[in-house]
Amino acid sequence: MSDQRETLGFQTEVRQLLQLMIHSLYSNKEIFLRELISNASDAADKLRFEALAKPELQDDDADLGISIIVDKDQRTLSVVDNGIGMSRDELIDNLGTIAKSGTAEFLQQMTGDKKHDAHLIGQFGVGFYSAFIVADKVTVESRRAGLDNDAAVRWESEGQGEFTIENIERAERGTRVTLHLKEDEAEFAESFRVESLIRKYSDHIGFPVSLTDQNAEKVEPKIVNSATALWTRSRTDVSDDEYKEFYKHLSHDFSDPLSWSHNRVEGKREYTSLLYIPGTAPFDLWNREAPRGLKLYVQRVFIMDDAEQFLPLYLRFVKGIVDSSDLPLNVSRELLQQNPELATMRNALTRRVLDMLKKLAADKDDYQKLWNEFGQVLKEGLVEDHANKDKLAKLLRFATTHTGKDTQDQSLDDYVGRAAEGQDKIYYILAENYATAISSPHLEQLKSRGLEVLLLTDRIDAWLTDGLSEYEGKTLVDVAREALDLPDDGDGKDQDKLDEDHKALLEKIEAVLSERVESVKVSRRLVDSPACVVAGDQDLNPQVRRMLEASGQKLPESKPILEINVEHPIVGRLSGEADDGRFNALSNIVLDHALLAEGSQLDNPAEYVQRMNEFMLHANGGADNG
Ligand code: ADP
Ligand code: MG
Repeated sequence: MSDQRETLGFQTEVRQLLQLMIHSLYSNKEIFLRELISNASDAADKLRFEALAKPELQDDDADLGISIIVDKDQRTLSVVDNGIGMSRDELIDNLGTIAKSGTAEFLQQMTGDKKHDAHLIGQFGVGFYSAFIVADKVTVESRRAGLDNDAAVRWESEGQGEFTIENIERAERGTRVTLHLKEDEAEFAESFRVESLIRKYSDHIGFPVSLTDQNAEKVEPKIVNSATALWTRSRTDVSDDEYKEFYKHLSHDFSDPLSWSHNRVEGKREYTSLLYIPGTAPFDLWNREAPRGLKLYVQRVFIMDDAEQFLPLYLRFVKGIVDSSDLPLNVSRELLQQNPELATMRNALTRRVLDMLKKLAADKDDYQKLWNEFGQVLKEGLVEDHANKDKLAKLLRFATTHTGKDTQDQSLDDYVGRAAEGQDKIYYILAENYATAISSPHLEQLKSRGLEVLLLTDRIDAWLTDGLSEYEGKTLVDVAREALDLPDDGDGKDQDKLDEDHKALLEKIEAVLSERVESVKVSRRLVDSPACVVAGDQDLNPQVRRMLEASGQKLPESKPILEINVEHPIVGRLSGEADDGRFNALSNIVLDHALLAEGSQLDNPAEYVQRMNEFMLHANGGADNG
């Protein structure tokens, strides 16, 4: 560790973020104060937590609080806390790099369009760096709790490419962040302006926040907030705006939450929870490893961020806090995991969230927004959370042949409500995308009989249908499987009879395609197409197979079943074909097309093209010689 003044460069991502942020967040600039107050409050929380084990850390200055000092003459605003502070190394790490994984990818999504970027950055959370929206220089002086006065550090930067760091003496524990405001941001050195912002951003914080105006007649701190943690107040005393503000403090999200639920549980175990459903998905929702979870307090003392033990993984988008009266103050992640109370709390909190979602589902438009943001992770619930399967199933939304739109907005109840009398199945098709699904030959019969089919095109859907095999007494049926027994065909013919009637043709095709198909059958699901392929009832769905193979898994070979439409003229032509070469080529083409139609890749596309070329040359017989 060196004492001298050093100049260090920001990590590339920080440099990019700073530029983008100053540009795109200008119209939200006052949020810097929320971020700085939130950091100061986190620092006080952390000190209180460390002092549980080492009370001496807090001895010299026991009353935790935050002061904001404005000085109009100097054009500065300072946020001062007596929290945990930072050592030299911590300062370099915390204020010179961004620790979130995926940051580089995230920054690439920025387009330069202010509104778009502001929205993205809002999900990302800008934190400390937002100070540079209004300041052209920021000075941070800090002393880590437990370190000597002369181990304090000063960090300073103009928010361009670099910062300086040097050791200083500092009697006070904690951190002072001083913003040297840009010339046209002098309003943030005006006490009346800043006071209203502090009220807005800190009233729910459990530490006193004071304001001092250096240019006032009497220079003395004035406590501005009520300093009671919001969740400790009674529900009826908290306004919607306060709940929303607290959410923004917790989540660093710019937009309002969709919903929240604030509860106190009393009796055998006592705890308070405040849970929020965000309006937008965080940038790293897809990362199942990203930090997530609730903020845990025990008897109002902050214990940890991202306590993931309280909610299942598929509810990772939920934000909030839990404040327990029963857990020990020294609870660690490991101890928490083993705590016998945990499972009960987790079940109750999960139910709370599902109830919130159910309430939201009553408003179709609101729920659609939620579904678009979080639908895919909710689907993970069907796979992971069997206990809540029924509740989760009601929350699902699908695209279906009924609406014919590429929008997931139909519930299973909608489907069941429309089902014909006596229909004991819910039909679905798995496909790569909406266009492949809606035009799949597998749907032809179902469409012509007016049977609705769910169009499942998300990667997770194959697992979803494994987890959800029936709903309200109706079995979910994959329309691309062998045994699709449609209700009462009306033609009085059963499969065996049909296959028997066309035995010669089926055997002839089977002989030609024996390398490529398991068997050939007469189809009862086609109307307009000559053929389709289906999976045997024990085989993997082809969609699942493609996904597994794409992810590098080696699977045992399995051949599809080819179904042919004996009413179709192409099949008619096949059965009248006397030339063996042409019969062979045509059979292969029929199979190739069936595979292409379901979204499969051909094993040998070049061979297909060659066959097709040959076929096109000779298809007209002697016609073009004429
Ligand atoms: P976040 O708060 O989301 O982690 P920030 O950019 O706001 O991101 O802050 C980065 C880190 O800098 C914090 O995680 C914390 O470790 C440290 N930090 C910021 N402000 C303070 C402060 N006032 N006291 C102690 N540490 C701080
Ligand atoms: Mg922060």
